[in-house]
Amino acid sequence: MDGTGSVIDRAAFEQMLFDAVTATDIRILACAPQARIVIDCSGRTAVIARGFTDRLSADQLVAAYAFLEHVELDVEPTPTTLIEAVPDGWWYASLLPGGRLALALFADPDTLPKRIALDPRVWRGALDETHFVREWIASAGFDPAARVRLASAGTSRLEQFCGPAWVAAGDAAITFDPLSSQGMTTALWSGRKAALAVLARVAGDEQPMERYAADLGDALGAYLKQRAIVYRYEERFAEQPFWRRRHAFIDGARAGTPSRRA
Ligand SMILES: Cc1cc2nc3c(=O)[nH]c(=O)nc-3n(C[C@H](O)[C@H](O)[C@H](O)COP(=O)(O)OP(=O)(O)OC[C@H]3O[C@@H](n4cnc5c(N)ncnc54)[C@H](O)[C@@H]3O)c2cc1C
Repeated sequence: MDGTGSVIDRAAFEQMLFDAVTATDIRILACAPQARIVIDCSGRTAVIARGFTDRLSADQLVAAYAFLEHVELDVEPTPTTLIEAVPDGWWYASLLPGGRLALALFADPDTLPKRIALDPRVWRGALDETHFVREWIASAGFDPAARVRLASAGTSRLEQFCGPAWVAAGDAAITFDPLSSQGMTTALWSGRKAALAVLARVAGDEQPMERYAADLGDALGAYLKQRAIVYRYEERFAEQPFWRRRHAFIDGARAGTPSRRA
């Protein structure tokens, strides 16, 4: 939530990871073999872990997002990421490698304009209510008409991060508010730590697994505190439901644990 950021070419990054794995003697299997222990890194759905523990939600943040095409090719868009607060949430616009623009409105289910993913006029109307994002899109030559999709973007955690035959990593374990830009780094960090903990457990040492679960809990607590601080910077819309809920995050951050069950 502080310092400068980088925009990652996600497809190229994932290809790079895949190439790095296939260059080793690790075997990639298309079927599900018997295993003594599984690392669940299946993202928010946590396909394995959800059979063993609950997911707790700290908020209900959702994203309405689209990828805009660059249509005025004689205009060179500024490579930047722009965030703009609005009464019902906040907008995110980021120029992607390849020249498309990722555009998203983050809101709560009850503050997101109704039918935003179904009716292009609703999407356009919401965008027109922005100041900086709207102007930037127009001046950089992007077509705001695009297919709008919805995605969950809220903060959540598994009640337990590991069990006797499984351990969760990345979004499967904890999901972060995209404002924090913490999802990717924690996915990489936790994936590596989970793998080392599994190797240690197989060798009969339980401590790294216990430390892994404790470290995830600490990381979540630190993130929740930071999230509360960042959201409080926006004061103009303090009376609006979206922002009122976020200003109340302070108490949750002290507790360090998401409070509602998904
Ligand atoms: C709208 C939005 C914006 C975001 N912006 C940012 C940002 O700016 N910066 C940032 O750091 N993070 C951001 N994030 C979060 C980031 O995308 C995630 O934290 C990150 O992708 C987590 O990586 P992961 O590998 O744990 O899960 P994922 O990237 O979700 O990968 C899980 C993989 O598991 C596969 N899978 C699922 N089920 C199965 C199954 N049954 N069998 C086999 N495979 C399966 C999926 O296909 C997928 O490939 C954002 C998230 C959202 C929703």
